[in-house]
Amino acid sequence: MSLTRREAIRSGALMSAGLVGGLAAVAQTGNRDGAAVESPAGRPVPKLTKRTAYIAAYDTESPRCLAAVRKIVEVHQRFNFPATFFMVGRTLEGAPEEYRRLLDDPLFEIASHTYSHRLLREHPLNNDKGPRPDLRKEIFESKATIERTFQRPCLGIRSAWGFAHGLTGARDVLTLIAEAGYKYSSSQLWGPDYTLPALLTEPYTYLADGHPTIWEFPGHGWHENILKSPTKWGAKRLTLWPAPMPEAIPSTFLKTPDEEFALNRVFLDKAATGTQSYVSFIWHPWSLGAFDPSMRMLEQTFAYVQKLAMKPTTFARFYEQAARAG
Ligand SMILES: [Zn+2]
Repeated sequence: MSLTRREAIRSGALMSAGLVGGLAAVAQTGNRDGAAVESPAGRPVPKLTKRTAYIAAYDTESPRCLAAVRKIVEVHQRFNFPATFFMVGRTLEGAPEEYRRLLDDPLFEIASHTYSHRLLREHPLNNDKGPRPDLRKEIFESKATIERTFQRPCLGIRSAWGFAHGLTGARDVLTLIAEAGYKYSSSQLWGPDYTLPALLTEPYTYLADGHPTIWEFPGHGWHENILKSPTKWGAKRLTLWPAPMPEAIPSTFLKTPDEEFALNRVFLDKAATGTQSYVSFIWHPWSLGAFDPSMRMLEQTFAYVQKLAMKPTTFARFYEQAARAG
């Protein structure tokens, strides 16, 4: 697959900026045998960082999240680890003072998870059929609520649920996102054909949809709540065959935080040894708090990220680096 002229120019700029060790052959990292596989986005991308970054991100989406966010913040401050909190506007409006007290810290980025946790486009496993007449409100109002509460810019948006191809082809959504002033989406949260886990897909821009400056930063791994029986979602057809990462598909629901950490390690090890720019799991405070009230898995994961010498950052800082390089 050939680079477009613009992409080639950008790649050159990245290399001259000293941020790239070389072009990754394809957007996706290797499969089980280490061979390159193509991403759903299907576009070659450069590796954006010399050192693989680690981005802790939390989909903060219901009143049940607040108590867990208190514990999560404590762990982050103890490790001096940054994080991105994707916040539902309504959830923030439910406890603005508490969230401001907890998250008004340079370690943390506050991004949007829509205004009322709606899909920004259709999802085959969800009956909430997007796009919706209130799409504009979901995109604009969440950003306004965050900026009003924290008095700083909100750069990114993550749709409820996320999609296998991010917002590729959803031009109406991308136009609104650009109009609202967002710089990135993090809405690619599923593997091929809406399977899990979401593979270690690299970032890309929405160049092909007419928005070359809007980035997509995919999430990786499982939606951790789905792995845990408290979700009570039950059995689903979720995995791909042949499985591109069979080692990342547990045989049953997770029972302990140690098991969750062991699964995280599969992705961290793979990201650290390949050409991956960053790795970021799809985490939910309400689910983390219910499964692991002491946040043991977070401590284990952060300690392991340190051991691998990954660079902890936020999506906003990662975006700034990507935009400067491009
Ligand atoms: Zn969500």
